[in-house]
Amino acid sequence: MQFKAILVEKTDAGQSASLKELSVDSLMEGDVLVRVSHSTVNYKDGLALTGKAPVVRRFPMIPGIDFSGVVESSSHADWRPGDAVVLNGWGMGETHFGGYAGYARVKGDWLVPLPRNFTPAQAMAIGTAGYTAVLSVIALEKHGVAPADGPVVVTGAAGGVGSVAIALLAKRGWHVIASTGRPQEKAYLEGLGAAEVIDRKELSEKGRPLGKERWIAGVDGVGSHTLANVLAMTKYRGAVAACGLAQGMDLPASVAPFILRGVALLGVDSVMASKSRRIEAWERLARDLDTSKLAAMTSTIRLEETIGAGEAILAGKLRGRTVVRIA
Ligand code: NDP
Repeated sequence: MQFKAILVEKTDAGQSASLKELSVDSLMEGDVLVRVSHSTVNYKDGLALTGKAPVVRRFPMIPGIDFSGVVESSSHADWRPGDAVVLNGWGMGETHFGGYAGYARVKGDWLVPLPRNFTPAQAMAIGTAGYTAVLSVIALEKHGVAPADGPVVVTGAAGGVGSVAIALLAKRGWHVIASTGRPQEKAYLEGLGAAEVIDRKELSEKGRPLGKERWIAGVDGVGSHTLANVLAMTKYRGAVAACGLAQGMDLPASVAPFILRGVALLGVDSVMASKSRRIEAWERLARDLDTSKLAAMTSTIRLEETIGAGEAILAGKLRGRTVVRIA
C-alpha cells in the first residue's frame, strides 16, 4: 500500500524535508495501523521541519506530532478497524514516524477515541496546541485561581496555544488580557473573547524583579523575558501556567514573585500526559470550546504546503491553528 508523506532526511548541510511516496511496510513498529485524515502545524512541527532545533531524534523521520484518522487494522485489544482516533505527542514526529503521512503505525496505548462533538478536522484544528491550552487552563483551575480573583493574561495570543486559551478562558468567565506582537489581530482576538489586547513589547524586554500587580493568572507560550515579566506582574497568590518557548527557553527571572507574593509557576507538558489527563482535557474541550470560534481561528492546507507552513510558524506568521488535510 503506497501513500504520500513528508520525510525529513539527514544531509551534509543538516537536514532536508520533502514530499515522498512511501509504502506501509516502511512504517515503524506498532500494534495499530491508522489511515490518517488530518494533521496540524504546531510550533514543534516547525522546528522539526526546518531543523532549527533538534526535535527530530532519528533520521529519516516523518514529522507531525499529532493526527486524527481511522483505524485500518489492529492487534490491540482497545481498537478495531473503523474506530475514529486522535493522537497527540508520545514522541511522534521526534522518535516515532508522525502524522504528515497517509498512514501511521503506532502503539494503541497512545491513541484516544475521537472526542465526541468533534469531527476529525476539528480535533486537529484543536491539535496539540489546543490540547496544551486546555491543560494550562485546567492547571490554573486546580491551583485555585478563579475569574473573581482578577484578570488572566495570555501571551503569544494570536498563535495556536494562545488562540485556544483565550476562547476557553473567556467561556469560563475570565477577563482575558491578550498579549500580541500583531496589533492588526486585535479584532480577531476580541472575537475569540479577549477583553483587552496589549502590545507584547510591554512584556518581552528585560524587566524588574517585581512590577505592578496586573493579573491573577497567566497562560504563557513564550518563555524568556516574557514569562519573567508575567510572573513579576502577577497578583498575590496568583499562578502562571508555562507551556512554551516561542521567545526563548531561558527564564531570566528572580525569586521575588514566589517569595514575596506567593506566586506559583505551573509547568505544563502535553507530550507524556497520561491517558486520563488526555481524556479529561478532550472532555473539557468538548464542553467549553465554541466550534464557531474554533472555525474562526483555523486555516486548512494540503500536505504539500506543510514544509512552507513550518517556516511560517517559526516566523510568527501563522495565525491561530493550521490543519493539514491528508486524505
Ligand atoms: P505559534 O507559533 O502558533 O504561537 C506562538 C506565538 O508566540 C506566536 O504566534 C506569537 O504570537 C508569539 N511569539 C512568537 N515569537 C515570539 C517572540 N520572539 N517573542 C514573543 N512572542 C513571540 O505556536 P504554538 O501555539 O503551536 O506553540 C506555542 C508554544 O507552546 C511553542 O513554544 C510550543 O513549542 C509550545 N508548546 C508546548 C507544548 C507542551 O507540551 N508544553 C505543546 C504545544 C506547544 P503573537 O504574534 O500574538 O505575539
